[in-house]
Amino acid sequence: MNLQKKEKLTIFESALFRTTSTLFVNDDLLLLVDPNWLPGEIGKIQEAIDRIEGDRPLYLLFTHSDYDHIIGWKAFPDATTIASQALIDNPNKEDQLEEIRKFDDANYIQRDYPILYPEINIPVTQNGQQLKIGNTTLTFYLTPGHNPDGIFTIIEPAGIWIAGDYLSNIEFPYIYHSSRMYEDVLKRAEKILEEHDIRQLIPGHGDPTDSRKEILRRIENDRKYIQSLRETVREEDIPGPEHFYQPVLFPGIMGDFHQKNIALMRKEERER
Ligand SMILES: [Zn+2]
Repeated sequence: MNLQKKEKLTIFESALFRTTSTLFVNDDLLLLVDPNWLPGEIGKIQEAIDRIEGDRPLYLLFTHSDYDHIIGWKAFPDATTIASQALIDNPNKEDQLEEIRKFDDANYIQRDYPILYPEINIPVTQNGQQLKIGNTTLTFYLTPGHNPDGIFTIIEPAGIWIAGDYLSNIEFPYIYHSSRMYEDVLKRAEKILEEHDIRQLIPGHGDPTDSRKEILRRIENDRKYIQSLRETVREEDIPGPEHFYQPVLFPGIMGDFHQKNIALMRKEERER
């Protein structure tokens, strides 16, 4: 991707679930997104930041409160934190922390920082809210659907779109909150492509892309998954995820997520 001189984008990919941690650096700031999973992986991000930080401020953005995305908070205790107001108001904070503790216990993982729920310095309360830092502008959009408290962040003028758990090329929509809201987020995604000069999309899991065509393909793929699943959700036997979305690289766990989507959408249809 063509960044301006002095702009630097590093995408760290965890060995687990292909989860991304993004570090954007320019003259004005360092912006770190969702530093995650293993202690060694988080250590590498810390080292990278220590090497380059200087006297620039470090901002730490959380795309949403799912435990894999907040797992590294206290490894960066001096950062100024950004997340949605809904993440702050999350009534189930303890559940996310419990997931982290369970994961660490199951895998014999010890961390040299405490597991705590993020305290947020800059809450995002509305669509289009902006934060200006020097010559950099961050624009935020609320994206409830996957879960209740997601946000999109656009970094300009670099044209980088931090998508959280949307617009992946390796995951069909995982819907924990609302399939209708998820579809609204996909509409929002199309609008963002019209209104911003996007040069790079970075999803929470999977490959980033600099292709507008590829972003549109992901939007359409995700929409098709939700719509076609909704059409069959009243039937008794529903085919596996590969019938609704390609590729399904990890049929075991992805089959589980598909079943959870079916359960949620059945509930939605009953309540309509
Ligand atoms: Zn998530």
